[in-house]
Amino acid sequence: MADCIFCKIVAGEIPASKIYEDDDMLAFLDLSQVTKGHALLIPKEHQQDIFSLKEDTAAKLFTKAPTIATALQKTFDCEGLNIVNNNGEQADQSIFHYHLHFIPRYGNDPLFR
Ligand code: ADP
Repeated sequence: MADCIFCKIVAGEIPASKIYEDDDMLAFLDLSQVTKGHALLIPKEHQQDIFSLKEDTAAKLFTKAPTIATALQKTFDCEGLNIVNNNGEQADQSIFHYHLHFIPRYGNDPLFR
């Protein structure tokens, strides 16, 4: 999609700190780090949200999720990790290209309660 930021990252038109890439998906560090190592996993094909996500795309993304999570754990030495997915404006989605947030968690991180 022409005006989609994540499609532009996939196309190499805007930079990103890539941490994983294959034919179907791309993972890169979030520009705004909620915690150290906060990353996003996206399908390369533009799909808006969970309501329109193809089942085979979902399967591919979630098959790779443990590898992404483990790589982040090893790299950033986090103690836990949240996987978050916002769908629709009402649910705080701001970029309408499906993505999973990988948010490493630390004992003293800003989300600690
Ligand atoms: P929210 O902004 O409420 O987290 P989303 O779930 O749609 O909504 O998340 C979009 C995410 O994309 C945000 O965490 C934002 O920081 C991130 N982001 C926006 N532009 C870029 C970019 N160019 N490179 C990396 N991450 C980006």
